[in-house]
Amino acid sequence: MDINSIKTPCYVCEEELLENNLKLLDYVQKESGAKIILALKGFAMWSTFPLVSKYLKGCTSSGLHEAKLAREEFCKYNPHAEVHTYSPAFKEEDIDEIARISDHIVFNAPNQLFKFKERVKEINPHAELSLRINPEVSSSPKDIYNPCGIYSRLGTTLANFDESVLEHVDGLNFHALCEQNVDALEEVLVAFEEKFSKYFKGLKYINFGGGHHITKKGYDVEKLIRLIKEFKAKYDVEVYLEPGEAVGWQTGFLIATVLDVFENGMSVAILDTSAEAHMPDTLAMPYRADVRGSGEAGEKKYTYRFGRNTCLAGDIMGDYSFDAPLKIGDKVIFEDQIHYTFVKNTTFNGIKLPSLAIYRKDGSLDVVKEFDYTDYRGRLS
Ligand SMILES: *Cc1c(COP(=O)(O)O)cnc(C)c1O
Repeated sequence: MDINSIKTPCYVCEEELLENNLKLLDYVQKESGAKIILALKGFAMWSTFPLVSKYLKGCTSSGLHEAKLAREEFCKYNPHAEVHTYSPAFKEEDIDEIARISDHIVFNAPNQLFKFKERVKEINPHAELSLRINPEVSSSPKDIYNPCGIYSRLGTTLANFDESVLEHVDGLNFHALCEQNVDALEEVLVAFEEKFSKYFKGLKYINFGGGHHITKKGYDVEKLIRLIKEFKAKYDVEVYLEPGEAVGWQTGFLIATVLDVFENGMSVAILDTSAEAHMPDTLAMPYRADVRGSGEAGEKKYTYRFGRNTCLAGDIMGDYSFDAPLKIGDKVIFEDQIHYTFVKNTTFNGIKLPSLAIYRKDGSLDVVKEFDYTDYRGRLS
């Protein structure tokens, strides 16, 4: 790949790496009998859907817009693909269209189910309904990403469970993990079964949510397969998984250019991208992206603080060191920037959105989307 010819900033998704992830997920499907659908929240680069839809069985969406994208851009390549739509609370003004384009509708609470179930069935008699359960167990590493934390709004706890929902639902969902290995799933399953397995009779499916870090090195794929097979055999239900991160995990990078370098107590480099607008998790988590060829501050000879091209003082990526001094015009590559990045981007400060590109298996680079001033203007009035 000719890195220097890429117009920055740009996210580059590597088709071969994406397909490797999809193949591993497909292996899990084939061996375990589970169906795996893509959580658009984490990865929604729809120009890759011709490839993604060859392996995954559909999409899970968090409301009308994601459901529409799934219906329009995923199902056209795979007419059997399923659209699952969940929302912490649906709105009257959206529910008709959601019902029309969704195969599965997942309600967050009995209130919501009772409010909308008739309307949904009227519009789409084939829609399958589910209730999201909060199993109240999670070892999620960060509170902001813990759906089962104290006072959580996400899902129905046993105390709030109403047995009369059972005659209306085809399945139950839970989502309790975040970037976790299979042992964390096992813990959640123990609690979930203890509290809710008495209600599984007659259900068609249980959806284990996302947060399974299946494509990360060291994930115990064989144990996952075993757990799913045991669960399916024990309760005679279909099992769904709906990962987002595991699909886009380590499938590409964000490339930026050094615009200026100077000294102010330490070396500062200004890049044509933004943590706030383009890599929000670096500020929210906080987490530090790996930069190709770099070390921790002080590890290599030349250390720089990476600041971004916005006027937010805290718009800083972190400190990185290099063997050689950085020069204006140098490219900087932030690794693993394909999941939970461009789906969250903003045009804060009028900064240009990074382009989206696919590095094809044949070695060509397809720039599938470029942004400009109209994207900034179009969101304001
Ligand atoms: C975010 C989310 C997912 C995907 O989670 P990942 O951590 O990206 O795998 C799946 N299901 C629900 C309900 C979610 O909110």
